[in-house]
Amino acid sequence: MTTNLTFRIAPATRMANVSYAIRDLAVVADKVARQGHKILYLNIGDPCKYDFPTPPHMVEAAARAMRDGFNGYGESLGERSAVEAIRARAEASGFQGIQGIMVGLGSGEVIDNCLTALLNPGDNILTPCPEYPLYGAVLGKLGAQMNPYFLSEENGWEPDLEDLAARINPRTKAILLINPNNPTGAVYSRATLLRVAELARRHNLLILADEIYDQLIIDEDCPHISIATLAPDLPVITFNGLSKAYLAPGWRIGWAIATGPADTLGDYLEAVYKLLRARLSAPNPFMHVIAPALQGPQDHLGVVREKLRRRRDLTVQWAAATPRVSLVAPRGAFYAFPRLDIPEEDKQFVTALVEQKHVLCVHGSGFGERPGTRHMRIVFLPEEEVLSAAYQGITEFIAHRY
Ligand code: PLP
Repeated sequence: MTTNLTFRIAPATRMANVSYAIRDLAVVADKVARQGHKILYLNIGDPCKYDFPTPPHMVEAAARAMRDGFNGYGESLGERSAVEAIRARAEASGFQGIQGIMVGLGSGEVIDNCLTALLNPGDNILTPCPEYPLYGAVLGKLGAQMNPYFLSEENGWEPDLEDLAARINPRTKAILLINPNNPTGAVYSRATLLRVAELARRHNLLILADEIYDQLIIDEDCPHISIATLAPDLPVITFNGLSKAYLAPGWRIGWAIATGPADTLGDYLEAVYKLLRARLSAPNPFMHVIAPALQGPQDHLGVVREKLRRRRDLTVQWAAATPRVSLVAPRGAFYAFPRLDIPEEDKQFVTALVEQKHVLCVHGSGFGERPGTRHMRIVFLPEEEVLSAAYQGITEFIAHRY
C-alpha cells in the first residue's frame, strides 16, 4: 500500500544486539524452497516436525482441560496441579530445599524473566561457547553481556573450567550450564558439575541450569545429573519443560525450579514473580497437561531414545567416514556439532550447502566457537532415510567444493 507518510518506525537501538542464527538461515532455505526444491531440514529442534508424535494421553488431557473449562487465565506462577507434579518429580530426582516453582510459556519465557529479574545493564553471565542463542538474544535485549567460556571439544565438549574461572569478574552474576547440551549433545560428568558448583560457591554466583533435555539421554552408561542435586547449599534455577522429552513444543509450556537457601533467593524470586504476575499466566489448558505428562505413562521415552540412538549412530558413522569432518559423539539431546576442516567461514559453507544440495544445517559461528575453528550443527531428529540422503549430499558437496 502506498501512503503519503514520510516517517519510518525505527526499532529500538538495543535490537542491534539481538540475533538468532537458527532462524536467520531458514530465510535462505525459504528462498530455495520457493524455487521448487525439497529441503532436507536438519536445523530445528522440534520433534513434532519429524516422526515423534505427542503422546495421546497428553493430547487427551489437553482436550479434557478445555472441555472442563480451564480456558481463562491460570495461576501466574503455575496451576496448582502442575506445580505439585513438578515438585514431586524434582524431589524424586533428588532436588532438596525447593524455594519456588514457576511455569511459563515455554522454558524460553521463564528464562527471559529469570534473566530480566537478575541483570542490570552492564552485568554479565557466564555463557557456554558454543551456546544456545536464546540466552544471547535475551541478554542483548537487557543491555547485559554474555561472558562466554569455552566448551572443550578435546574433552568431550565439557566446560573448560580454567577458562570459566578466569572469566569471572565483578559484574558476573551467574553461571549458565546447558546440560545435556545444545548444540554439542554433551552430557556433563559429576566431577565437572562439582567443580562448577565450587566456583559458584567461591564467587557468590547463581547457577542457571538449563536441563530441558534431561530425559533424552542416549547412552545408558552416561546418566544425567542435575547440578541442583549436587549443590543443595547453593542458589540454583533449573529449567525444564514439555517441549523436548514430552514432544509438545507448540504448547509452550516450560518451568523453572529454584533451589537453595531461602534467604539467598527470597528477594530475587519475588522479583521474578512480579514479572510473571504482570504477564498473567502460561496457557491454562496446557498447564493441566503437566501432571498427566510427568505422572502418566512414560512409554514414549523408550521409543524416542531408541530412535535417537540409531540416528546418532548413523551420524557418528557418517562423520567418521567423511573427509574434513570430525565429530565428538553426542550422548544426549538430538544435536551433533561436527568440526569442519574447511578453508572458508562456516556460514558461507552452510549457505552454499542449502543452495546447492538443499540440506539445511546451522553454522557453528551462529552458536559461537573457538576462533579458528569451524563447525555446523546438525539436528538428527529426521528418519534414517532422510538423514542418509542429507549426509550423502554433504559428502558430495565437500568432495566437489575443496
Ligand atoms: N533451552 C534449550 C537448551 C533449548 O534448546 C531450547 C529449545 O530448543 C529451549 C531452552 C527453549 O525451549 P522452550 O521454550 O520450548 O521450552
